[in-house]
Amino acid sequence: MDKTIYFDNNATTCVAPEVREAMLPFFGELYGNPSSMHAFGGQVARHVQEAREKVAAFLHADPAEIVFTSCGTESDNMAIRGSAEVLGPTARVITSRVEHPAVLGPCRRLRDQGHREIEIPVDGAGQLDLEALREALKGGAPAIVSLMWANNETGVVFPMEPIAALVKAAGAVLHTDAVQAAGKIPIDVRRLPVDMLSLSGHKLHAPKGIGVLYLRRGTRLKTFMLGGHQENGRRGGTENVPYIVGLGKACELAAAHLEAERTLLARLRDKLENGLLATCPDARVNGDRQNRLPNTTNLSFEYIEGEAILYHMSDLGICASTGSACAAGSLEPSHVIRAMGVPFTAVHGSVRFSLSRYNTEAEVDHVLEHVPRIVRKLRDLSPFGKGDTLPVEL
Ligand SMILES: *Cc1c(COP(=O)(O)O)cnc(C)c1O
Repeated sequence: MDKTIYFDNNATTCVAPEVREAMLPFFGELYGNPSSMHAFGGQVARHVQEAREKVAAFLHADPAEIVFTSCGTESDNMAIRGSAEVLGPTARVITSRVEHPAVLGPCRRLRDQGHREIEIPVDGAGQLDLEALREALKGGAPAIVSLMWANNETGVVFPMEPIAALVKAAGAVLHTDAVQAAGKIPIDVRRLPVDMLSLSGHKLHAPKGIGVLYLRRGTRLKTFMLGGHQENGRRGGTENVPYIVGLGKACELAAAHLEAERTLLARLRDKLENGLLATCPDARVNGDRQNRLPNTTNLSFEYIEGEAILYHMSDLGICASTGSACAAGSLEPSHVIRAMGVPFTAVHGSVRFSLSRYNTEAEVDHVLEHVPRIVRKLRDLSPFGKGDTLPVEL
């Protein structure tokens, strides 16, 4: 194995060299506290403000609507739990069956605490059942709705415009987890009436450990990180200055390259996907191929285990995933794939490839050269119906 071929960019991305460069001074001479009264801290505060402006520009938001957090998970928790606390114990909590654990976790905690929680189903293509959403929104009680913009496992993109129209018409509060959408499809909060939106740095070529909650002006939220007056009193704690600066740079890069990257990534992804479908019998794509992120493909190889494929790919330096890294290691089939009603013979054989701007055509060719052979060998050892799916030496 000479080089890592990284097709797991929905799990995390590399830090862009420009982002790393932008961060370095804040680990060195620019170490002041942005809240300090002296000019030494004040110059750092200006860099934090510039980063806030870059993140805001990326979303077409106002800089005052940007709250820096420690990660996407914190942003999701803050939005859902913070609104439920404002709306009170009668508030319904509406989400979908295919959300990231960072959304499902807080929603289910609220259910345990007595809220009525509704998880909207998806169809076989992973698309939200809008009729079920309409039904769930009926009735007078207040509601917080949290629906992801794009799915981390399948790349399926929910129709946020009709969703937002339905939710706002019902007078409910709308949060969207846009962690996977950011940098891959355009986001414009002027045109989309979401109240809150989550981002995570490390899915966007910034470091792990920095996130954003976009909080539309006027949105009421009880904050749970109580402390200093940072982030306008919405999230206490001294600012993570280097990472905030890095995320600002990452958003600037994402905005500048979005259109060109979308085309490039979709072309590479389609080549990979079509190549695997053509060379591996009994392979299928999981999820809506029309309404999907340009960088993601989730394929099921029937009758074999996704984990076994990953294990053999890993020997060749190829990194992919069986759905969500958070569920990995459990050997339970992914809740997303199950919610889509994928046939029994295919639920265990799902593999996700997720690309970034740093992937090349030569890397796609390398995967196409080796993966069909891996699948063939595993199938030979796992005859139809037998279900002998232990990893084996090739
Ligand atoms: C990765 C991810 C998160 C969590 O973000 P962290 O910064 O890792 O906490 C939330 N939602 C989705 C859809 C994700 O892909």
